[in-house]
Amino acid sequence: MKIVCVGGGPSGLYLAILARLRSGGRDDVTVVERNGFGATQGFAVTLGEDILDGLFRTDPVGARAVRAAAHVWGEQVIEIGSRDGSGRPVHLGGRYGYSIGRARLLEVLTERARQVGVDVRFDTPVAGDPAQDPLTADADLVVAADGINSPIRARHADHFGTEISHGRNRYVWFGTSRAFAAFTFAFEPTEAGWIWFHAYPAADCVSTCIVECSPETWTGLGLDTMDPDEAMRMLERRFARALDGHSLIAPPGMGSSPWLRFREVRNSTWRRDNVVLMGDAAHTTHFAIGSGTVLAVADSIGLADALYGDGAHVPAAADLSGALAAYDARRRAVMKPIQDMARRSMEWFENIDERLDQDPVRFAWSLLDRRGDQGPLHYQLHRATQIEPVRRVRARLTSARRHRRALSRGEITRAQLLTGST
Ligand SMILES: Cc1cc2nc3c(=O)[nH]c(=O)nc-3n(C[C@H](O)[C@H](O)[C@H](O)COP(=O)(O)OP(=O)(O)OC[C@H]3O[C@@H](n4cnc5c(N)ncnc54)[C@H](O)[C@@H]3O)c2cc1C
Repeated sequence: MKIVCVGGGPSGLYLAILARLRSGGRDDVTVVERNGFGATQGFAVTLGEDILDGLFRTDPVGARAVRAAAHVWGEQVIEIGSRDGSGRPVHLGGRYGYSIGRARLLEVLTERARQVGVDVRFDTPVAGDPAQDPLTADADLVVAADGINSPIRARHADHFGTEISHGRNRYVWFGTSRAFAAFTFAFEPTEAGWIWFHAYPAADCVSTCIVECSPETWTGLGLDTMDPDEAMRMLERRFARALDGHSLIAPPGMGSSPWLRFREVRNSTWRRDNVVLMGDAAHTTHFAIGSGTVLAVADSIGLADALYGDGAHVPAAADLSGALAAYDARRRAVMKPIQDMARRSMEWFENIDERLDQDPVRFAWSLLDRRGDQGPLHYQLHRATQIEPVRRVRARLTSARRHRRALSRGEITRAQLLTGST
């Protein structure tokens, strides 16, 4: 089979790797990426345990390379500033995660793809209809992994039933020279309302720092008309306490209007003949749940399972058409509740001003429970977590839980677990 993945983001590259591995090197797999190698935008993205399990299950060699490049953060902290310049951290216990520079992730996946025989071509845009473009016309399967603005999806938006809706808030994806130890949400009051950031560390690049505010605060502070460099300097001053005096770093190629509104993409089908949508082309989830890359890679695993079977529970479909239909049905069913939950999370951040009037520990609880998945006992635990000895015990238990999970997926050995050499 000849497969062409349009787009060299995480989803296109990972599907390509799995197609080569699962076909035993028989399938002819190409990734065409319009940008040059290393031209990706953005700082670090977050990864969770489920996707690491998925990577170790499907390609342990590649998974080790991804894991080696990822950074573990062992805590989440909420800082709520007050007008007198003080700010008291509230701790969210039992939480940890992984982050990896987006450029580094793509480098690792590209290297692995080439190792297993994928033809990865940079500076190669698919310019036309996949049925007409010489790059894709003779492919048995075209994977539209071409991102949130997917030109392939846009060309047949009616067929795919594409719905795009916008969040209210404005945000910019900055970096910062502050090496955060914990995943940090920092909220600062201003004369025009609250402004906040979501920041997390990365091993091999600067911390990611997404600044967000309501449209009222955005216009009230003059951010809608301000020169982007001047706005960045102003935000550094506003966040001086939370950034500990560090600078913000502009997103690569920051134009005259770096402020965005989140775009939620949904499609009623992800398939058209031999073309399937994958990753951000198929669906987006608000950045507050930090799952875009995870879900994009989960699509790749889902499509590979449908095409080739997973060797254990999921049999390969009888033919290509059946495989694409199975992928479309299964992954859309999985994504629907996740997109609904991400929308609730986005809406929580859109109605923040009145919530910030309450006690900080209660506010932090509301943030923690914004998807409605925490029980009443968790609230008592959350209160207890503000006491340092309790927090230390929780941190040790969380670390043990993380290591057990790493052991169960084969990332570490029992000897490493017992000696703590991980
Ligand atoms: C502010 C912000 C924060 C985020 N934070 C996180 C996070 O913490 N964790 C997380 O997991 N995700 C995060 N994401 C989302 C994440 O970046 C995406 O969900 C993920 O990259 C999707 O992968 P993809 O492969 O589907 O698409 P992309 O990574 O967008 O890749 C698509 C590729 O297709 C290429 N392309 C497009 N058109 C063509 C064409 N015609 N021909 C050839 N190539 C083409 C593009 O150049 C691009 O390289 C964040 C996103 C934003 C905006």
